[in-house]
Amino acid sequence: ADDTRGPAPRLTVIGTGYLGATHAICMAVLGFDVLGVDVDPDKIERLGSGEVPFFEPGLPELLAKALDTGRLRFTTSFEDAGEFGDIHFVCVGTPQQQGSYAADLTYVDGAVTELARHLRRRALVVGKSTVPVGTAARLTELVQRTAPAGTDVELAWNPEFLREGYAVDDTLRPDRLVFGTQSPWAEEQLRAAFAPVIEQGTPVVVTDLPTAELVKVAANSFLATKISYINAMAEVCEATGADVTGLAQALSYDDRIGGRFLRPGLGFGGGCLPKDIRAFSHRAEELGVGQAVSFLREVDAINQRRRARTVDLVRELAGGDLAGVRVTALGAAFKPNSDDIRDAPALDVARTLHRAGAVVTVVDPAATGNARRAYPELTYGTDVLGAAAGADVVVLLTEWTEFREIDPQAMGAVVAGRRIVDGRHALDPVRWRAAGWEYRALGRP
Ligand code: NAD
Repeated sequence: ADDTRGPAPRLTVIGTGYLGATHAICMAVLGFDVLGVDVDPDKIERLGSGEVPFFEPGLPELLAKALDTGRLRFTTSFEDAGEFGDIHFVCVGTPQQQGSYAADLTYVDGAVTELARHLRRRALVVGKSTVPVGTAARLTELVQRTAPAGTDVELAWNPEFLREGYAVDDTLRPDRLVFGTQSPWAEEQLRAAFAPVIEQGTPVVVTDLPTAELVKVAANSFLATKISYINAMAEVCEATGADVTGLAQALSYDDRIGGRFLRPGLGFGGGCLPKDIRAFSHRAEELGVGQAVSFLREVDAINQRRRARTVDLVRELAGGDLAGVRVTALGAAFKPNSDDIRDAPALDVARTLHRAGAVVTVVDPAATGNARRAYPELTYGTDVLGAAAGADVVVLLTEWTEFREIDPQAMGAVVAGRRIVDGRHALDPVRWRAAGWEYRALGRP
């Protein structure tokens, strides 16, 4: 330990969903005293008794470890939070508003108001949620207006870049830390809160509030654009008989381009990229610079067309009509190693097939519980071969390892017709065709 450091700050984490629970658990493992706060008593109860309420590799083990040390507690009480914390991380959701591209900030506003009301001593409130640029400035005023008179409170922004499925590693060993601050004191506080991470050599970018807010949406816009770029090339390939997987591979050897996020397929989904690029477009329009990011509308449209194209491929393999066709959908989660079904391309495709009259059975290693609650109209299988029994067409929608490893002969023995659409370029077409399957994939002849 570095004894030039002051006493470690005590942390609260407001909102214990995917981001907040991970952050709270990892900070406790790093040695801080942490209080997790949520308005959902069921979530708080489960976390407090050692259960992670969502699928995230490695996190249950760390939760057990953190609870054992006594450094991690969970509560629904903002009074506790105000009493306990030197630094309060705000990690509540910022979903897309119903009927608009804008972000819904009611949870952020609600959490910050409730927290500010209960502050009793000097505190730093740190936003981690992804928000439209300008939110932090507005919240600065809100906090100052709402905190009890005489309470010294400041606001900072520390956008989060963790990826679901790699959340633990991304939190303990992030690529970079971004601190949007309004005073040297706030920077000092954040440096203290992340001292164990900074000591590993993690780069820290210290900047102002709007830059910190923008870094996050700029990063997500870039990633979404990269995916839609290669998927736009897939559309061109489809019109020319070219093969987008060969194209992507050749591009990837150029290290100015790089191969990551350049995988063609069914496109992106989840609780972040789609709503973040939409909220960014919306905010840019409000600011009078909509034109600067108008390409994000295209990025979104390309992404949506991949879903429609996947449905078309299934229809083509089924002979032109989906009515009564038995389809096995491999995947429900928006990506592998996750049970998150927010804006999942897989379920979007499965539901469209269902609405077109197909009889759809969905199978997924982690997400069928969430999917069944959200879309009870679909049928859910428990194992791959059971779900594929009697299928006319199989469609791979989420590239779980378990699906990549399917034996085409074994599956061929249970289906009614050997027809497969590979929505993620996860399977070897040579092997599947050799086993007698009609194989189709996006952007490939
Ligand atoms: P989530 O829906 O899993 O969690 C949000 C939590 O906030 C829920 O548990 C909810 O009960 C709680 N909450 C709502 N209102 C509250 C209030 N007033 N007080 C206390 N708790 C409240 O969402 P998430 O995926 O964790 O995302 C949270 C934020 O982090 C979003 O802005 C998201 O864009 C951003 N983010 C998410 C990820 C990710 O991979 N999930 C990565 C980076 C950034």
